[in-house]
Amino acid sequence: MRPEVLFPLFAPIRSLKGIGPRLATMIEKLAGPNIVDLCWHIPSGIVDRRFTPKINDAPAGAIATITVKVVEHQAPRIKRLPYKVICSDDSGVLELVFFHARSDYLLKILPEGETRIVSGKVEHFQGNVQMSHPDRIGTLEELDELQAVEPVYPLTAGLTSKPLINAIRESVSLVPPLPEWQDPAWLSQQDMPDWQLALQRAHSPTTEDDLYAEAPAIRRLAYDELLADQLALSIVRATQRRKSGRRFNKDTGLVSRATTALPFALTKSQKSSIDEILHDMAEPFRMLRLLQGDVGSGKTVVAFLAMLRAVESGGQAALMAPTEILAQQHLKTIDELAKIVDVNVDVLTGRNKGTQRGQILERLASGETSIVIGTHALFQEDVRFKDLILAVIDEQHRFGVHQRLMLADKGAAADMLVMTATPIPRTLMLCAYSDLDTSRLIDKPTGRLPVKTRALPTSRIEDVVTRLHAAIKDGARVFWVCPLVDESELIDLEAATDRHAFLNKRFPGRVGLVHGKMKGNEKDAVMASFAKGELDILVSTTVIEVGVDIPEASIMVIEHAERFGLSQLHQLRGRVGRGNQTSSCLLLYAPPLTETAQARLNILRETDDGFRIAEEDLKLRGAGEMLGTRQSGLPQFRIADIAKHQDLMMAARDDARLILEKDPDLTSDRGKALRVLLYLFEKDAVIQTLRSG
Ligand code: ADP
Ligand code: MG
Repeated sequence: MRPEVLFPLFAPIRSLKGIGPRLATMIEKLAGPNIVDLCWHIPSGIVDRRFTPKINDAPAGAIATITVKVVEHQAPRIKRLPYKVICSDDSGVLELVFFHARSDYLLKILPEGETRIVSGKVEHFQGNVQMSHPDRIGTLEELDELQAVEPVYPLTAGLTSKPLINAIRESVSLVPPLPEWQDPAWLSQQDMPDWQLALQRAHSPTTEDDLYAEAPAIRRLAYDELLADQLALSIVRATQRRKSGRRFNKDTGLVSRATTALPFALTKSQKSSIDEILHDMAEPFRMLRLLQGDVGSGKTVVAFLAMLRAVESGGQAALMAPTEILAQQHLKTIDELAKIVDVNVDVLTGRNKGTQRGQILERLASGETSIVIGTHALFQEDVRFKDLILAVIDEQHRFGVHQRLMLADKGAAADMLVMTATPIPRTLMLCAYSDLDTSRLIDKPTGRLPVKTRALPTSRIEDVVTRLHAAIKDGARVFWVCPLVDESELIDLEAATDRHAFLNKRFPGRVGLVHGKMKGNEKDAVMASFAKGELDILVSTTVIEVGVDIPEASIMVIEHAERFGLSQLHQLRGRVGRGNQTSSCLLLYAPPLTETAQARLNILRETDDGFRIAEEDLKLRGAGEMLGTRQSGLPQFRIADIAKHQDLMMAARDDARLILEKDPDLTSDRGKALRVLLYLFEKDAVIQTLRSG
């Protein structure tokens, strides 16, 4: 139950004084339903009303607060002309201009003969000093209040700043002092105020500096938010672990036989990742592990060996890929190895229909199939396993957290391994996946040569064609990726089709085309002939972005490279350089390049370290955009800024761990205060899972 101290904050916005239903609806749409939501609605700017010139000294364009005498009201003779109120001081005349005015109201707030204070933007019009629709009008007694620095808040259509400022001011005044949940030593080291004061300061900025992410009050609030988030994630994780999993540690020699049968030696980080995974599987809690490795780092083999442990423990394993092509590719890699150790592998995708599908489902349900590889089709209700022990999900960011849980639920306490080739900066990892343990593949299989990367304007396409002729004569195979022109797949398709026709004239019969609209088996056929060398060039839309493995391909041409994100370009480039010949990547762009596009291409030429590229991408684009906020499952913060508060994010993560180590059920004094923090950020559900919730 929410503690009583927080009741005032969780009262509805409509309960504030002077807020009618119409206004309340607009504010709710903007900020949220409760008073606390208004507290989190922090200013994005300031208006400085401290400049108080005489009328004739007020420069055009300035925000000025001027004390004037109201001389007379001039109602317009024609309706569409403005209503004017003539004012003066000892230096000159100021015209207040109102369109669609209500004269009774204006006469009330600006009575003729009285002194008033007006504040707003000064304009010079046809030799007159004017102010149209002053932002503020008040009496002499209100001077102090008017002549101040005012916060500017993000608004929504139909809502003006005055009522919003009032509502927020009142909300903040209702904020109670709360027990301190932060470590006092940390607060003083960081120069952070207490929560109540931080909130008050955040809402009364006096300089631009007060608005920055670095301002102590903002940092304090951001840290509260991040700590609440990390604490909640850690509690969920601890609870998950307390739920009994099963020990999968039977060793019949299957894993080691398969390892010996591999045509290559495992890299050091493949070995350590496998150790970590097998260790987790042997523990009596549910494994939730992320295997992170750049393209080509060899994740599939790691997953395969883990799946064999599930098989020798007497159960089944499933590997889920985001696309048909990838599922087929995994099947190819795994099936070969599985045959050697005599393990049954099946595949289930959207292509399997009718009786065929029925038979696959039967084999899964009976346990005849030990390993299944598939796509989203594996999620379907009627897919049942005899005993699913390990679920592996490839390319995590294409699936939501929700789906990942759905697959796990198909097994009784199944272990879960998530694989991603998107190098995620460490800090983002913490906030997006801190419920997962992580294994990283940092060294690439030996013999890989760096990919030579060049950027060229599209006008040089003939040079490219000439070079391809020479390279193909020497046995090279070429990926040619056409750009994402816009959201519409049809237009993409057109670009790819045109390019295919163009290249096919130059390399008759040697150019293939794959795109998202093709049927599965058509795609396979084209990919297969490219893999076999019956085609020299494969033109595609971005369908090959993730995971496709054709070691013989050594040249990657990316058209309109300026339209791709940095990480995406890196992924595409990773499609080549997998064999032992020198590979190259040509980035074709349409000049002029924007500064960001230029920076992207430069970074790509400089490095092929996926993690560094991800960090740079984060800097250039901001977190949400980088991973595609929707898809990424990244949390959305109200105050914290994922890019700017990275240090706080790290600190919050460590802090959360320490807290739970010392006080797992949050029963100490600080623990009780932290419960208030969790309620404040609406993590109510998490608190229910604490033992003395
Ligand atoms: P990714 O991490 O991108 O999924 P894959 O698992 O598809 O990488 O592996 C890429 C290629 O490297 C595959 O052809 C695979 O057989 C090969 N490979 C994996 N591990 C090694 C290794 N240790 N030494 C040499 N080749 C390897
Ligand atoms: Mg892969």
